[in-house]
Amino acid sequence: MRKYVIMGPQGSGKGTQAKMLARDFDLVHISVGDIFRWHVQNRTKIGSKVQRYMKEGRLVPDEMVSDVVKDRLDQHDWRFGFVLDGFPRNAAQADFFLENYDIDAVIAIDLPEDAAIERMQSRRLCSGCGLDYNLIQLRPKVPDICDNCGGRLVTRPDDTPEAIRARLKDYREKTEPILELLREKEIIVTVDGTPSPERVQAEMRRKLSLPVEPGAAQS
Ligand code: AMP
Repeated sequence: MRKYVIMGPQGSGKGTQAKMLARDFDLVHISVGDIFRWHVQNRTKIGSKVQRYMKEGRLVPDEMVSDVVKDRLDQHDWRFGFVLDGFPRNAAQADFFLENYDIDAVIAIDLPEDAAIERMQSRRLCSGCGLDYNLIQLRPKVPDICDNCGGRLVTRPDDTPEAIRARLKDYREKTEPILELLREKEIIVTVDGTPSPERVQAEMRRKLSLPVEPGAAQS
């Protein structure tokens, strides 16, 4: 059983890295942002409550976030473990999490703020299947069209300059301080988020003492 949390500023490639890790080690990728986006897209009660916060790049209130995380983890469909992406993001969420769950490691992706802004501005999301693209590093084969499902690529509604600034400010002021707390607990591994996704992933696996080659993961 492997239980990881992945953290890093917006645009650092958390989602991409979490998916790569989950795919090769049979882990369930749990993205709090994706869960909320699903609710917004499907016009659920939760979706109507979180929509404004998300559009403005603000954090959703802690209680709603903890409920969503708890419900998701309670499904226990993660036989081999999970990678939790986008939680915790502040001290209250970290307290709730550390009190209720045991984790093996927190993976922190480091990325300078100007690189994070550049990546967010070049980020595109498939309106059909939700796959992430980046016009710098992960371009679709046909412009604006998803390689996977043929859906149209769109800009995330919270990737506007104002929302990007708000999200990075929250990261600096609310999320970064909890990295210190986790560092004291010695469960954190830090990786440089600047290189290609494959190189970031390889560094992460080395630091987690996991096999770097996907095939080797099964043996
Ligand atoms: P993400 O896809 O991780 O960038 O998350 C998108 C948005 O979902 C964030 O900007 C917040 O509005 C909301 N969100 C995701 N995770 C959290 C969290 N742990 N706490 C509060 N809001 C969150």
